[in-house]
Amino acid sequence: MGSRKRRTVKPQRKTKTVEGKCPKCITIVRFNVSGPVGDEIYECKGCLTKYHVDEL
Ligand SMILES: [Zn+2]
Repeated sequence: MGSRKRRTVKPQRKTKTVEGKCPKCITIVRFNVSGPVGDEIYECKGCLTKYHVDEL
């Protein structure tokens, strides 16, 4: 008894991914999204190129 395991807190770093067309891969790929809202950095999982949200 007394197992106080009520911490179901998930780590705050869930990686957001979106699908999009990479200018380099010229295909639909998934991007890792990081950075603040409105200033996101999209990292192509195919070629690992990073794009600012304004570049896509
Ligand atoms: Zn790419």
